[in-house]
Amino acid sequence: RSTTVPNIDGSLNTEEEDDEDDVVDLAANSLLNKLIRQSLVESSQRVEVLQKDPSSPLYSVKTFEELRLKEELLKGIYAMGFNRPSKIQEMALPMMLAHPPQNLIAQSQSGTGKTAAFVLAMLSRVNALELFPQCLCLAPTYELALQTGRVVERMGKFCVDVEVMYAIRGNRIPRGTEVTKQIIIGTPGTVLDWCFKRKLIDLTKIRVFVLDEADVMIDTQGFSDQSIRIQRALPSECQMLLFSATFEDSVWQFAERIIPDPNVIKLRKEELTLNNIRQYYVLCENRKDKYQALCNIYGGITIGQAIIFCQTRRNAKWLTVEMMQDGHQVSLLSGELTVEQRASIIQRFRDGKEKVLITTNVCARGIDVKQVTIVVNFDLPVNQSEEPDYETYLHRIGRTGRFGKKGLAFNMIEVDKLPLLMKIQDHFNSNIKQLDPEDMDEIE
Ligand code: ADP
Repeated sequence: RSTTVPNIDGSLNTEEEDDEDDVVDLAANSLLNKLIRQSLVESSQRVEVLQKDPSSPLYSVKTFEELRLKEELLKGIYAMGFNRPSKIQEMALPMMLAHPPQNLIAQSQSGTGKTAAFVLAMLSRVNALELFPQCLCLAPTYELALQTGRVVERMGKFCVDVEVMYAIRGNRIPRGTEVTKQIIIGTPGTVLDWCFKRKLIDLTKIRVFVLDEADVMIDTQGFSDQSIRIQRALPSECQMLLFSATFEDSVWQFAERIIPDPNVIKLRKEELTLNNIRQYYVLCENRKDKYQALCNIYGGITIGQAIIFCQTRRNAKWLTVEMMQDGHQVSLLSGELTVEQRASIIQRFRDGKEKVLITTNVCARGIDVKQVTIVVNFDLPVNQSEEPDYETYLHRIGRTGRFGKKGLAFNMIEVDKLPLLMKIQDHFNSNIKQLDPEDMDEIE
């Protein structure tokens, strides 16, 4: 069967389309969040600290001056426009910069300033006059390594003679080369190769070891073991730091295996709630019918920005084409686009250039687009066993206390999917009202 599919440039082609669902790609999501983020995600949540030595006093800093950083680093920080430490930085930086160095496991949601914090630690400990690798940072992908490297370069702008090198596949180092750069950022496999096979890095001289994006790391086959092999060859006085945006048991177990005697800092994520959200459902016969209901809703109320979720790529494309043909300004976010293309679509949506964003169920997971007033589940989120995916439902529709403004959520339901919706309603103990799409008065 052929479908009409809009290309990135808006043109249409008719090609056989795969009907594959997008898969959650943690590394791509993480990169995407970095590419579209221009400032800190402010969090009002509490920071929890667990000290290695509970009897030692707990330091926190409200200014960068209190950290007594090297002058050139302070200049670098201010040049980046940072005025004061972020919440996680307040607690983490004193520990990271302490003498003797302390190990740290830190977890906080992406965008809270973790990268900036460990880059500061690496740059503080580096000796520019010594021409060999002194800081080693592991990242899950080439692109994420580059992002971290960019932060090192910006923050270290005034640190003369400090340089970064990337241990990533494709960065070919001729035989006999001596690595003189002080900061190495790379993926576990290549770093392992550079350390043990090619002997380009002498691990016994590493002073700071950073394992970034631990949750993404353990999601990739082989990376945990490779990271542990690298860590085992480090000297005992090497400072070891691990960062993660999430903290499931698996991440925690890995963190404890790889970071000896750690201090632990956690920044609780704000709980999502459905309290401020009015939820509706519309019973429909089929896809066409759902589309009609959507148009009625769209015509019936003043919509700010909306996100529409579909279960499959094929559905998302179909809907995009239908809406475009009806003259709506929509954009399609789909897993087959490159990360950069996705970042630019999300950016445009954020800037209000597009009113409607259509996406597949998993493509937008973990990506922060919370300013929308309306969320439409064109298909309900379900897991592989066709049970409701509660977590995804909550993530799409829920808001944190801070974004407490009222939201609207519409679920387009085929009759046979009604039991799923009822389960969702029970699960969250919240009311999802049936809506007659011909009668929009109910909403406002
Ligand atoms: P994370 O590693 O937790 O995802 P980042 O360190 O990348 O977070 O920081 C997120 C964004 O906030 C980046 O754009 C970064 O430049 C900025 N940022 C980090 N620390 C500060 C700060 N103290 N003040 C202002 N902006 C900051």
